[in-house]
Amino acid sequence: DMLHTNVGEAVDEASARQRDHRYVWHPWSPVKETVGDAPILVSGEGYRVRDAAGREYLDAMASAMNSSCGYAHPALIAAAERQLSLLPHFDLSVGTHLPVGRVAERISGLLPDGLGRTLFVNSGSEATEAAVRIAHGYWRNLGRPRDRIITFAAGYHGTTLVAQHLSGLPTNVTHTLDPFPVTRVELPVPARELRAPESLAPLVEAFERAVLDGAPPAAVFVEAFLNVGGGVVLPSGFLRALRELCDRTGALLVLDEVFCGFGRTGRVFGFDHEGITPDLVTMSKGLSGGYVPFAALSTTEAVYRSFAADPLIGGLRYGHTTGGHAVACAVALAVLDVLEERKLVPAAAARGEELLAGLLPLAEHPEVADVRGLGLVATVECHRPEFAAGLVARARERGTLLRRQGCSVMAIPPLVIDRAGVAELVRTTGKALEDH
Ligand code: PMP
Repeated sequence: DMLHTNVGEAVDEASARQRDHRYVWHPWSPVKETVGDAPILVSGEGYRVRDAAGREYLDAMASAMNSSCGYAHPALIAAAERQLSLLPHFDLSVGTHLPVGRVAERISGLLPDGLGRTLFVNSGSEATEAAVRIAHGYWRNLGRPRDRIITFAAGYHGTTLVAQHLSGLPTNVTHTLDPFPVTRVELPVPARELRAPESLAPLVEAFERAVLDGAPPAAVFVEAFLNVGGGVVLPSGFLRALRELCDRTGALLVLDEVFCGFGRTGRVFGFDHEGITPDLVTMSKGLSGGYVPFAALSTTEAVYRSFAADPLIGGLRYGHTTGGHAVACAVALAVLDVLEERKLVPAAAARGEELLAGLLPLAEHPEVADVRGLGLVATVECHRPEFAAGLVARARERGTLLRRQGCSVMAIPPLVIDRAGVAELVRTTGKALEDH
């Protein structure tokens, strides 16, 4: 149960709402004329958050899908405080600090052999930006420029211009500039049919056509599980086929592990289900558990060394002031300790099985098109987005925060959720469905 130690000062909910309405521009949100009723969160503990009115919620959104260790974790707070008082940061283009080397070593230990070189940035989008520029730069460095990138049309890789350019999701299409060619592969069958073994061949064929028709691609850039794209579980064998296709054509295989990475799918990385080794891996969310902004990109020594050929600085001309921030590195180290000590990756797999088994019966409801999941992320796909929105609203009234992506209602709790929490999540989602 939620402790009452970190509730903080009394909150005047009405004035907090007015202030927010007057001054804050919320990303990915409609412009509002009237004060809304979005939850105002003030504190959290474990997998629960508390709002300004003192109501508690089971957070099945894991904050911004990034809470791995839950809220108010003492070891994470202590790690941040200690590093803040020692040294908040130092410019990594000039010098270095201790936590960055330590966390790079730890990440390389979790990745397959060969992915030992890590660049640090602040957000998943920046990791995507860096990955695309590294893929382009790699081919330029070899003297055989390639710039085409192959993606899923339903993929999501972030929100900077380069990152958004990779996606074909309608809300992401801001293609006023065409900075480099992208071939965006449509799903050959609806998402709910995709996990079936029969969908493997048409999906692989679609990627083969994309790679082989046109200029040789610099990279194939995919998620192991399409999260924003609607909770799409890919057929077993797909990433292995993609690895083979990339080996055959030289294209770099980039895995976007921003969402899947660090346990979300029940393995450390989403691609671990397929036992492959990508050429580049991007990561963010679960790595710092939502405590501080942090992201990383790991690659091979071959890709790294190729940048010695850069004519101006003999290296990568990309980086941010706060990339590899020492406090973020220290927090990430503490997160990796917690994942290991509390065995949160196998726990995510076990809780995920309970969650999916609990939600599967909801597929019988006439408004529900499909229930599917992978690790600790479950998707209840509805036929209509309005119904999905209503389901999320009714679950919130019952004390559970769910996430909606289009027609899909997603349960993405922190990895620290226990059996009782999963049972509660299943119960309230079912009741919210019945309420209708
Ligand atoms: N890639 C994936 C798979 C994501 O889920 C996200 C965030 N939802 C991003 C990239 C972008 O990360 P950020 O929001 O930190 O820029």
